[in-house]
Amino acid sequence: MTLNKETSDFYFDNSFAHHLEDFFAPSRSDSLLEPKLLKFNYSLAKELGLDLKALDSEEGLAIFSGNKIPKGAEPLAQAYSGHQFGGFSPLLGDGRALLLGEIIDKQGRRHDVQLKGSGPSPFSRGGDGKSALGPVLREYLISESMHMLGIPTTRSLAAVATGENVYRETALPGGILTRIASSHIRVGTFQFGTALGDIGKIRRLTDYCINRHYPRAADSENRYLTFFEEVCNAQAKLISRWMSVGFIHGVMNTDNMTISGETIDYGPCAFMDMYAPDTVFSSIDEKGRYAYANQPNILTWNLTRLAETLVPLVDLNQDRAVELLTVAIQNIEPIYQKYWLAEMRSKIGLSIEDPSDLELIKDLLSIMEKEGADFTLVFRRLSKALEDKDHLLLKLFKDTSDLNPWLLRWKGRLEQEENTKEVLVEIMNTVNPIYIPRNHTVEEVLTTATQQGDIKPFSDFLLVLEKPFDEINGNETYAIPGPVPDQPYQTFCGT
Ligand code: AMP
Ligand code: MG
Repeated sequence: MTLNKETSDFYFDNSFAHHLEDFFAPSRSDSLLEPKLLKFNYSLAKELGLDLKALDSEEGLAIFSGNKIPKGAEPLAQAYSGHQFGGFSPLLGDGRALLLGEIIDKQGRRHDVQLKGSGPSPFSRGGDGKSALGPVLREYLISESMHMLGIPTTRSLAAVATGENVYRETALPGGILTRIASSHIRVGTFQFGTALGDIGKIRRLTDYCINRHYPRAADSENRYLTFFEEVCNAQAKLISRWMSVGFIHGVMNTDNMTISGETIDYGPCAFMDMYAPDTVFSSIDEKGRYAYANQPNILTWNLTRLAETLVPLVDLNQDRAVELLTVAIQNIEPIYQKYWLAEMRSKIGLSIEDPSDLELIKDLLSIMEKEGADFTLVFRRLSKALEDKDHLLLKLFKDTSDLNPWLLRWKGRLEQEENTKEVLVEIMNTVNPIYIPRNHTVEEVLTTATQQGDIKPFSDFLLVLEKPFDEINGNETYAIPGPVPDQPYQTFCGT
């Protein structure tokens, strides 16, 4: 995003636009009369090597509102298909997003710069191509929080209030998010490639993705099979990270699953408070397809859709290709399990592997479920039990008769570990966050920002979420779950 060649060595380098002409339509943004820059992510801009001075000015506002297309951008809307709640839509595409182009940061990493909510594209299908401000700020907050938790994700560079209303069930203030991603290519992009009915085109897309995301696959014996295995590995790891913090994506359609292994599309997502594996927040997920505990199953389901698109590439003999891909699909579950167990082991302070660990972890989860205990706080306060402050943990449970013997087992198991208690406490506190985007606080700060035009509570909350592992005096209210609501908490896609 070169705004000033003298002060920035940044430049657009639009590989997608130049290599994959069958996978997009040129597009543009609407212009706005009175946009306002609500948030600008300085530290991300710095990481990306952008010109901070230029961007935090009228010039930045003009770009992040879509009023000015920066030099070197080649704005386009990407085409993709997707299985939405299991049903196939052959043509979705960016209906409310505009890829400005790609930039390369100082470490040589490539990033997409995308505006979300800047007006209709050729893929809008009757939609207005806009976003309400609430969902824009929600994505900003939660994606940045995920990043700070160490979870691969798209990032948020800027949030703009458009100064115009969008019309959903009611009139709502509009917003535009500037999103940064290592790419926006999805499982649905491959499904679109298959629908084009030309093996050359799906091969071109796959070669492009290998080059961009998994260059090591290019040297392997069967690059397309290795590519698939790499995507499976990245996604299995990602979902295990989600599970380890109680994150529920809410709309794991194949068009919302990236090839890169980053979390994308923060529509109805939310973090679970009390541990209940069947938790669903999204108002449209009536059958619980994307419930917390079902996310690992959907991982395999979605990647099987990706595998189907790769059959023509993996082997000339199609039966052989299916055989090879089937083996890779069968490996997803054990790979996921391995990552998940590693996550959970570290959450309870274990670094040595013992065959009894799985049972120990499952037993704790069962007790938490039975007791409706808070997922985040139980893990955070386990370390308190090592500092003789057991009461802080125990008070998260209505009845501690199952927990007490579990704690004895756990402490016995910890004796196998080489770390001292002090070190264990320290390690566990870098794995188990104390501050997550609690639903009631998210709602509160978004309401204040969108209805009262006051962004300060949002900004304060964001600051807390930027250091999710550091317990800070005075921030206690951010750490606790809200009162149990009369009706279950519900989230909306916000389209
Ligand atoms: P999502 O559920 O947000 O992943 O979006 C699913 C599809 O609907 C994508 O193709 C979006 O581009 C499209 N879409 C969502 N909201 C809008 C909108 N306001 N206008 C046009 N297309 C939209
Ligand atoms: Mg989407």
